[in-house]
Amino acid sequence: MDLQTKALHAGYTKDTQGTMAVPIYMTTAYEFRDVEHAANLFALKELGNIYTRLNNPTTDVFEKRFAELEGGEAALATSSGMSAIFYAIANSAEAGDNIVCAKQLYGGSLTQTAHTLKRFGIESRFFDVHKPELIETLIDDKTKVIFFESLTNPSIDVADIEAITAIADKHGILTVVDNTVATPVLCRPFEFGVDITVHSASKYTTGQGLSIGGILVERKGLIEKLKANPRYAHFNEPDHSYHGLVYVDVPLPPFTLRARLSLLRDLGAVVSPFNSWLFIQGIETFALRMREHSKNALELATFLEAHPKVKKVNYPGLKSNSNYENAQKYFDGGACSGLLSFEVASLEEATKIVNATELYSLVVNIGDSKSIITHPASTTHQQLSEEELLACGVPSGLIRISCGLESSKDLIDDIKQALEA
Ligand SMILES: *Cc1c(COP(=O)(O)O)cnc(C)c1O
Repeated sequence: MDLQTKALHAGYTKDTQGTMAVPIYMTTAYEFRDVEHAANLFALKELGNIYTRLNNPTTDVFEKRFAELEGGEAALATSSGMSAIFYAIANSAEAGDNIVCAKQLYGGSLTQTAHTLKRFGIESRFFDVHKPELIETLIDDKTKVIFFESLTNPSIDVADIEAITAIADKHGILTVVDNTVATPVLCRPFEFGVDITVHSASKYTTGQGLSIGGILVERKGLIEKLKANPRYAHFNEPDHSYHGLVYVDVPLPPFTLRARLSLLRDLGAVVSPFNSWLFIQGIETFALRMREHSKNALELATFLEAHPKVKKVNYPGLKSNSNYENAQKYFDGGACSGLLSFEVASLEEATKIVNATELYSLVVNIGDSKSIITHPASTTHQQLSEEELLACGVPSGLIRISCGLESSKDLIDDIKQALEA
């Protein structure tokens, strides 16, 4: 079945009312038939609803549908993209362990890995996503995760996914990929050997900037990589917090099972059923939207590249871009989402352009149906000096755009008048 068809039907069996729309089950808890039923649910002898922190029928549809789109076995929804990332790492590593991360990460992921996880005793070691061959110099027997983004935000690079998964597999290490910007529509990392994907559902999944949420997806057959793997004793030994359950001995996808039974149970970053429902609405048009976002961005990038006031355009869909080959290899039809950036001569020039646009909203978000413009040097990267800005690839004249679903002609016209104002 094609992705667009799965996006409309996967994971939902019409309930007793025959509702075409997936119902929103706003409930905290569920009635058990009797004591035996309750005991069976807790013992995993029977699967079913217990309490909405652990599972919910609306969220279940969102999880199953998203797992299908990504080509994975199972998924776990969370309250935000950041909590999905934290659960993916906390499900693999503990105090005394280390993880290897790409330098080119979302700002929140950089602070989570470099600072917050460090306080929990997990060390992060960073590599340049363009130099995957250096990963091996960072690995030791305490390395539990290699973490990177398929299409990086905000630097707009495309990872050579297979080069990284080959190294991870050689050492039996789990790969976690943040696939937020590429989305399952454009990139399916499991086809290139990735083990776990994480997403912020707050971006293209909801698609209209409606809500915060996240999701973690596990690939098919991950159990084989975890079984008897000395790096992941916690999947192979009894979990005393769950009456001695051994995750690889249960006939259920082990990674999401442990994330649900242990992390969601104890840390509780659960998504609201209402938000899951919003994400389900977004998914119905996911494929249509991603194609249109990508088309608009390519047209705008092509226009910008030819404009005399523009020094440089970063968009992996342009032949001139150093990520072009990877984008062709890893992204469906080479489509690269709505995220692009471009550089003008100075901070003053960039400020003037951003202020002169009318159609673009000045917002620190991406993936909305409405176009967004940001000037990183005066907002997200404000605390950095001129040298530091250059070092992290954010010159002061850099403008970032998340192309929405307006007509590309209007988007180009507005940037043109702003450039020439
Ligand atoms: C926004 C974003 C996140 C964080 O997601 P939230 O839902 O805001 O917590 C993580 N990774 C990437 C690539 C993002 O763009």
